[in-house]
Amino acid sequence: MLHDIYYRPMATTSSHRTQVSQANECAICRSPLTTGYYTLLDRPERYCPTCIATRPRCACCGTPLGAQHWQLHDGRLQCCECHATAVYDPAVAREIFAETVTALVQQFGLLLSVKVEFRLIDAPTMQGILAQSQRHFDAGVQTLGLYQRQGPVRAIYMLYGLPRLLFRTTVAHEYAHAWQGEHCPRMQSDLLREGFAEWVAYRHLLWLGGTRAAQRMLEAQHPYRPALEHVLELEEQLGTVKLLDYMKRAH
Ligand SMILES: [Zn+2]
Ligand SMILES: [Zn+2]
Ligand SMILES: [Zn+2]
Repeated sequence: MLHDIYYRPMATTSSHRTQVSQANECAICRSPLTTGYYTLLDRPERYCPTCIATRPRCACCGTPLGAQHWQLHDGRLQCCECHATAVYDPAVAREIFAETVTALVQQFGLLLSVKVEFRLIDAPTMQGILAQSQRHFDAGVQTLGLYQRQGPVRAIYMLYGLPRLLFRTTVAHEYAHAWQGEHCPRMQSDLLREGFAEWVAYRHLLWLGGTRAAQRMLEAQHPYRPALEHVLELEEQLGTVKLLDYMKRAH
């Protein structure tokens, strides 16, 4: 039985240390930043060395958590910013999924002839699907979404509780895998496969006006970033329309 599975992990949160001492205080414990401080990519908050090393992190964005945070039913912790736009309701999730698919058809012509199913799941269910698939994955990194084809059944599984924009970006990524399943029959290269899926997500973010989030995709430490950069170079050489043709013929 034909069995394909592709997934999108969360970006690694990298913090940057500044040695200069500051009169400012740590965003979490309010202690003065006398021995330098840490910042996260494109965020203004400053953290002391102790909080950056010891505080639990938001499962969606990796920010260190203070006393005010949320706990989801599957145990994930979440910061207030991520919580504010997080998608919990399956009906809402389905609506955003449908909107995203419509937009991707409009934007790139990514049509499917066989419908892809959609399911909103929790973190242990996601881990279970990956574990069963025998596909190599890093259990320490949060998986945000995955596309699976098992015989005739094609499905996109999305983690519940993701902030709306991250949810939509990940749907775009997984939908690109569904499109590849139909239109790129010979594709073997994971670099092209993940690179194209990230490229669709990146272009979709820009299309939505999410320039900051798109920029973050180019700067964050993510296992698929080299693949995205590769496909962006291809796009520069070929243009968008020819890039799609290239993907259809690629091995
Ligand atoms: Zn992928
Ligand atoms: Zn602190
Ligand atoms: Zn967060």
